Amino acid sequence: MLHYSCDACKRPINAQMEVRHVMKIEIFPAIDDATVDDCCAVDCSAADDDHLEEMQELLQRLDAGDEVSFVDDGARSLRFDLCESCRQRFVKNPLGVKSGKQLNFSNN
Ligand SMILES: [Zn+2]
Repeated sequence: MLHYSCDACKRPINAQMEVRHVMKIEIFPAIDDATVDDCCAVDCSAADDDHLEEMQELLQRLDAGDEVSFVDDGARSLRFDLCESCRQRFVKNPLGVKSGKQLNFSNN
């Protein structure tokens, strides 16, 4: 049996007793170019499948010995397991921005 723990609070998640929530974060540079119409910049529900295919292509090319240059464009794909309470916390405040009392900004 697989054991999971919450990536936020490190609490073990008993999959038989509670729901384990998976949070996926995709970060990539937005390409605001109207001529690019076959990319996932706007909306792409099949992003995961595309990604898998891309990976397989990449692996095949690596096998073939082709030169593959990795360019770090800042894109990241992150995946976290969350317990129920952390899920609620995250949904309310996805970016972890401190909320509550307004700071005393001076409005000149
Ligand atoms: Zn948690």
